[in-house]
Amino acid sequence: MAERVLDGGCQCGAVRYRITGESMLAAICHCSMCRRAHAAPAVAWAMFKEEQVTFPKAKPATYASSPEARRGFCPTCGTQISFTASFIPGLIDITIGSLDTPEAVPPTLHYWDSRRLPWMQIGDQLPRYPEFPPEG
Ligand SMILES: [Zn+2]
Ligand SMILES: [Zn+2]
Repeated sequence: MAERVLDGGCQCGAVRYRITGESMLAAICHCSMCRRAHAAPAVAWAMFKEEQVTFPKAKPATYASSPEARRGFCPTCGTQISFTASFIPGLIDITIGSLDTPEAVPPTLHYWDSRRLPWMQIGDQLPRYPEFPPEG
């Protein structure tokens, strides 16, 4: 059976990506760094091996949001695309919201729930981790 292909990109179309295969993790992050970077109350991420993701046009520009982490975004329109960090070597998080079909990758848990905004009440029954969940 052919592997699943997911396409996505930024709002203006300058940055596009293609993902082959399934995500290792799909989750909603409530941390304050994601909140600030995206100016959003929480951010849905899907994690892949770096070799699963290709950028056929421009690559995202990156911002070092901490000494360990790089956040990728479109330098033209500002859409947040990716997250890589030395503590997740070889892996890349992609914003589920930038997928062409975000409904195809439903989150399965919440992390950094200890930082969740009190008014951010989501009516799902997914597991909630106070910090980053254990691997797997
Ligand atoms: Zn753009
Ligand atoms: Zn976060």
